[in-house]
Amino acid sequence: MIEQKPDIVSSLQAEGVYLKQRGRSFWGLCPFHSEKTASLKVDNDRQTFYCFGCGAHGDVIDFQMRRHSIDFNEALSYLGLTPSSLDAGARQRIEREKRKRQAIAAFRAWCADEYNELADLYRKLQQAKTFCKSWADVERIAVFYHDESIWQLHMEILTGRDDQAKFGLYQVTRNAA
Ligand SMILES: [Zn+2]
Repeated sequence: MIEQKPDIVSSLQAEGVYLKQRGRSFWGLCPFHSEKTASLKVDNDRQTFYCFGCGAHGDVIDFQMRRHSIDFNEALSYLGLTPSSLDAGARQRIEREKRKRQAIAAFRAWCADEYNELADLYRKLQQAKTFCKSWADVERIAVFYHDESIWQLHMEILTGRDDQAKFGLYQVTRNAA
């Protein structure tokens, strides 16, 4: 049994978005950015919205996710929908969301592991340096000097805020493995 998603026009109106009909579409003030003239277009046929001002777009589920800062599943229950009552397209989307969350979790776990391993190696190297008593000892650990700067750089990336850089590291390291 396929339950339809709630009508986007009435859903937005219920959220306090005043919409004015113009032909087959509706226009209103976008709730996602501050504006005085309408740039939010609601397409009644496609059941989608698009804001020419800030680029916000999607269907009624996207709207509620954004409006209430909730995730996809929360938006479903907010709209009184259950995954099984949705059409195939929406179910695929839930699957995709789930896989995405799993991939993100795996990536975060990798970042933490990688950092711990590097920090451990780095600590060992610093310790080894303090044990150097002869030129031969220095020569033995000198081969790690190149690694040391790479480890430092990688640790900086892993503790930084740049997820793009972390992801680059993740891909390079995993491909090399
Ligand atoms: Zn907008």
